[in-house]
Amino acid sequence: KLYNQVQDLKGSIRVYCRVRPFLPGQVSSCAVGSIDEGNITIITPSKSGKEGRKTFSFNKVFGPSATQDEVFLDTQPLIRSVLDGYNVCIFAYGQTGSGKTYTMSGPKNMTEQTQGVNYRALSDLFKLAEQRKGAFIYDIAVQMIEIYNEQVRDLLNGLNVPDASLVRVASTMDVMELMNVGQKNRAVGATALNDRSSRSHSCLTVHVQGRDLTSGTILRGCMHLVDLAGSERVDKSEVTGERLKEAQHINKSLSALGDVIASLAQKSVHVPYRNSKLTQLLQDSLGGQAKTLMFVHISPESDALGESISTLKFAERVS
Ligand code: ADP
Ligand code: MG
Repeated sequence: KLYNQVQDLKGSIRVYCRVRPFLPGQVSSCAVGSIDEGNITIITPSKSGKEGRKTFSFNKVFGPSATQDEVFLDTQPLIRSVLDGYNVCIFAYGQTGSGKTYTMSGPKNMTEQTQGVNYRALSDLFKLAEQRKGAFIYDIAVQMIEIYNEQVRDLLNGLNVPDASLVRVASTMDVMELMNVGQKNRAVGATALNDRSSRSHSCLTVHVQGRDLTSGTILRGCMHLVDLAGSERVDKSEVTGERLKEAQHINKSLSALGDVIASLAQKSVHVPYRNSKLTQLLQDSLGGQAKTLMFVHISPESDALGESISTLKFAERVS
């Protein structure tokens, strides 16, 4: 409750930046100069040989040593608000390889410690629902979709349909099983050279309906957990055909998302939801009483400097 009040005062959009560690065997210099609380300083080389520095500020910056547990800690209050009837969107933004899937789902070889936001959010949701059992009865159902080239695909049955199937769940285990089904359906049509996952948005939506046992009031909340397509700009002179079309769709939908969040942050009267499938689908959960959390991801190496700066600029614009 206190959190909700604080949120209402401060606006309902929070932006967190996460810098992943260097990966084993990666040799490159580091583009991140320093991180403290909400600030990240990037080192930019200059022609004269003198380094430049640019600092960006967010609600919080998580450095390479931040654990999944630490990253989830600030997300926890949002889970409670879903049970209180609020809508929540959690996004992972960044170039391919910057750690979006790691934050949301966790790494390939998962341990209890490395479980991502999705798993933690759901297990908290079930835990809290259980604690409120005497006062509320909750009904929880999930949907899993993918948006690829502005087309929506239901990942739980593998079909292109306007309304994705809603599956009732009773435990975190149920959801994990469904997520595996979704992962398998997502892999269909992708080859080793054509990893579609980085070029589509995937969205796990949790619908919660709670009945207040005393008053009979029904509360409805939902939470969208979105692993966005890679934000990297492709060089238009180098790509053609299918790859170019994908790039244009990603570009368009990520900027549409940026435009929507930026106009909400500025409290504009007109919010341009209609410009992409993603913002259309999430319309009810972006703005109004809804809460938005954006994790923007940065790769630490100098080679990624250009993309990191454009990610940080995107993030600054929406915060
Ligand atoms: P993306 O989804 O943005 O393309 P991934 O989440 O797949 O990126 O991350 C790329 C690689 O970096 C993976 O091997 C992943 O396990 C690793 N990685 C990402 N973030 C972290 C982190 N915070 N700690 C350790 N390894 C990470
Ligand atoms: Mg990924």
